[in-house]
Amino acid sequence: MEKPAEDFPLYADPIPGPDEHVHCLNCGHRFAPKANFCAHCGQGNKPRRLQVGLLLSDFLEGYMNWEGKLWKTFPLLFYRPWQLTIAFLYGRRKRYIHPARLYLFTSLFYFFTVSLLVPTDVIDTAFQRADALGIQMGGGADDGEAEGVAASSTRQRYFYLRQRAIDPDVSLEAFQESLSETMSWDSSYSPIVSVEGLRRFFANSSTYVGNVLRNLPLMMFVLLPIFGLLLVLMLWRRPFFYADHIIHAFHIHAFAYLFYGLAFIYNYLGWVGSDYAAWFSFFWVSMLGFGSLKKVYRLGFWSTTWRFILLGTLYGSVLLLALGLVFWLTFRYQ
Ligand SMILES: [Zn+2]
Repeated sequence: MEKPAEDFPLYADPIPGPDEHVHCLNCGHRFAPKANFCAHCGQGNKPRRLQVGLLLSDFLEGYMNWEGKLWKTFPLLFYRPWQLTIAFLYGRRKRYIHPARLYLFTSLFYFFTVSLLVPTDVIDTAFQRADALGIQMGGGADDGEAEGVAASSTRQRYFYLRQRAIDPDVSLEAFQESLSETMSWDSSYSPIVSVEGLRRFFANSSTYVGNVLRNLPLMMFVLLPIFGLLLVLMLWRRPFFYADHIIHAFHIHAFAYLFYGLAFIYNYLGWVGSDYAAWFSFFWVSMLGFGSLKKVYRLGFWSTTWRFILLGTLYGSVLLLALGLVFWLTFRYQ
């Protein structure tokens, strides 16, 4: 016996829902006559059940829009990043990729590149090749009076300490003694570099840089509002909000990430002039930073210059301090 067509579940409405085109299907807000979008939540006024063609266009619309923004945003980020900041502050907030999202993309690109290209066991290999690189670890080797392990090469001392650090039969006191004889380590250093910390460091030195790299994105994210505060100080009594400086800070960091990331890749590839890639990107990021200060805040040449130098010095110091802190905290809590 054949079933009537309306009983087929395929043709029935699987999820009974409200009438389309009268109320917004997303939030229930009543549509204005002939509205293409809901005035309340922004969802398009489309049939409730999308057929393949509409589904595809719905998807592509969102995607093309996004792709269009990408192609508008990145060329500007390369050579006129201030236009992105100015457009956003002017109120053109939908034209380009949102500054916070741009920051996220570029920082992901940068840290992904760095963690791929910087060998995480760099400290381990440096110690192993220390004698070839001329690295001197601790004292004792050159004064002529040292004997035993203390008189051996950095490489040998490193392997000795590493083996002592891993060995569960070596007590902490015994390891401390090994530290004293190989590196002239003194118990007065312990508040800064503890015996336990050094033992963990020698046991895990191959993972140390990887751990530092993992903490850097967080450090940079914490520094962003501080960079914003420095801009507040630089532009004191000028008609800008803290939020304006944050937007500017997003863009400045975004092009810095972009160029330093590209320099890393270029350097890795070893193409022509790759030794200068870092210097070139530093130069270009500085130029763009200068231009950005000048254009966004509409300053003259000299009033840009002193702000640029002061900002560079202050933020450079903050960066170095934070970097030292991250190295130390990673060492301490590894
Ligand atoms: Zn709605």
